[in-house]
Amino acid sequence: MARKHPRHGPYDDIDREEETPAIVEPCWLCSRPTGKTIVWHHPVPKSRGGRDVVPMHPICQQTLITNFTNSELQRHGMDVEALLATPAIRKFVDWVAGKDPDFTAPLARKQR
Ligand SMILES: [Zn+2]
Repeated sequence: MARKHPRHGPYDDIDREEETPAIVEPCWLCSRPTGKTIVWHHPVPKSRGGRDVVPMHPICQQTLITNFTNSELQRHGMDVEALLATPAIRKFVDWVAGKDPDFTAPLARKQR
Protein backbone atom coordinates (compact mmCIF):
# COMPACT_ATOMS: atom_id res chain seq x y z
CA MET A 1 0.00 0.00 0.00
CA ALA A 2 2.93 2.32 -0.52
CA ARG A 3 2.03 5.62 -1.99
CA LYS A 4 4.13 6.64 -4.88
CA HIS A 5 6.00 9.63 -3.70
CA PRO A 6 9.20 9.76 -5.62
CA ARG A 7 10.68 12.20 -3.17
CA HIS A 8 12.33 11.43 0.15
CA GLY A 9 10.65 9.53 2.88
CA PRO A 10 6.99 8.84 3.42
CA TYR A 11 6.78 11.23 6.35
CA ASP A 12 8.06 14.27 4.61
CA ASP A 13 4.69 15.78 4.12
CA ILE A 14 3.46 15.21 7.58
CA ASP A 15 4.64 18.31 9.30
CA ARG A 16 3.81 20.58 6.46
CA GLU A 17 1.50 22.85 8.30
CA GLU A 18 -1.57 23.97 6.62
CA GLU A 19 -1.64 27.65 6.36
CA THR A 20 -4.36 28.33 8.80
CA PRO A 21 -4.90 32.01 8.64
CA ALA A 22 -5.68 33.63 11.91
CA ILE A 23 -9.37 33.37 12.56
CA VAL A 24 -11.05 35.95 10.45
CA GLU A 25 -13.86 37.68 12.17
CA PRO A 26 -16.60 38.92 9.94
CA CYS A 27 -17.40 42.55 10.38
CA TRP A 28 -20.46 43.15 12.47
CA LEU A 29 -21.79 45.77 10.15
CA CYS A 30 -20.93 44.77 6.62
CA SER A 31 -20.24 41.04 7.15
CA ARG A 32 -17.10 41.16 5.07
CA PRO A 33 -14.07 39.54 6.64
CA THR A 34 -12.09 41.99 8.65
CA GLY A 35 -8.72 43.10 7.38
CA LYS A 36 -5.46 43.81 9.12
CA THR A 37 -7.02 46.27 11.43
CA ILE A 38 -9.92 45.12 13.51
CA VAL A 39 -11.78 47.62 15.53
CA TRP A 40 -13.58 46.26 18.55
CA HIS A 41 -16.63 48.34 18.57
CA HIS A 42 -19.05 48.79 21.42
CA PRO A 43 -22.53 48.61 19.89
CA VAL A 44 -23.73 50.19 23.08
CA PRO A 45 -21.27 52.97 23.79
CA LYS A 46 -18.96 52.32 26.68
CA SER A 47 -20.05 55.56 28.24
CA ARG A 48 -23.58 54.15 28.24
CA GLY A 49 -22.61 51.00 30.03
CA GLY A 50 -22.04 48.90 26.93
CA ARG A 51 -19.82 45.92 27.49
CA ASP A 52 -20.20 43.82 24.39
CA VAL A 53 -17.76 44.37 21.61
CA VAL A 54 -18.01 43.33 18.00
CA PRO A 55 -15.33 43.18 15.33
CA MET A 56 -15.57 45.85 12.72
CA HIS A 57 -13.64 47.55 9.99
CA PRO A 58 -12.35 50.95 10.98
CA ILE A 59 -14.31 52.42 8.11
CA CYS A 60 -17.50 50.74 9.24
CA GLN A 61 -17.16 51.99 12.76
CA GLN A 62 -16.40 55.40 11.40
CA THR A 63 -19.59 55.27 9.41
CA LEU A 64 -21.63 54.31 12.42
CA ILE A 65 -20.34 57.05 14.63
CA THR A 66 -20.73 59.53 11.83
CA ASN A 67 -24.34 58.64 11.28
CA PHE A 68 -25.55 57.99 14.78
CA THR A 69 -25.35 59.73 18.08
CA ASN A 70 -24.47 57.80 21.20
CA SER A 71 -28.10 57.82 22.17
CA GLU A 72 -29.14 56.29 18.90
CA LEU A 73 -26.41 53.69 19.11
CA GLN A 74 -27.50 52.86 22.60
CA ARG A 75 -31.06 52.51 21.47
CA HIS A 76 -30.14 50.14 18.67
CA GLY A 77 -27.65 48.27 20.79
CA MET A 78 -26.77 44.90 19.29
CA ASP A 79 -29.54 45.16 16.75
CA VAL A 80 -27.42 45.47 13.64
CA GLU A 81 -30.46 44.84 11.46
CA ALA A 82 -31.95 48.08 12.64
CA LEU A 83 -28.77 49.90 11.79
CA LEU A 84 -28.68 48.28 8.37
CA ALA A 85 -32.23 49.39 7.81
CA THR A 86 -31.04 52.96 7.95
CA PRO A 87 -30.71 54.22 4.39
CA ALA A 88 -27.30 55.81 4.93
CA ILE A 89 -25.89 52.62 6.42
CA ARG A 90 -27.53 50.44 3.82
CA LYS A 91 -25.97 52.56 1.14
CA PHE A 92 -22.58 52.45 2.77
CA VAL A 93 -22.62 48.67 3.20
CA ASP A 94 -23.64 48.15 -0.39
CA TRP A 95 -20.88 50.45 -1.48
CA VAL A 96 -18.19 48.97 0.73
CA ALA A 97 -19.15 45.41 -0.16
CA GLY A 98 -16.89 45.42 -3.17
CA LYS A 99 -13.92 46.95 -1.41
CA ASP A 100 -10.84 45.30 -0.04
CA PRO A 101 -11.10 44.39 3.66
CA ASP A 102 -8.23 46.74 4.34
CA PHE A 103 -9.82 49.53 2.42
CA THR A 104 -10.14 52.67 4.42
CA ALA A 105 -11.12 56.09 3.36
CA PRO A 106 -11.27 59.25 5.30
CA LEU A 107 -14.93 59.91 5.76
CA ALA A 108 -14.23 63.44 6.58
CA ARG A 109 -17.45 65.19 5.94
CA LYS A 110 -20.97 64.07 5.97
CA GLN A 111 -22.27 63.44 2.54
CA ARG A 112 -24.79 65.87 1.40
ZN1 LIG B 1 -17.13 46.26 7.79
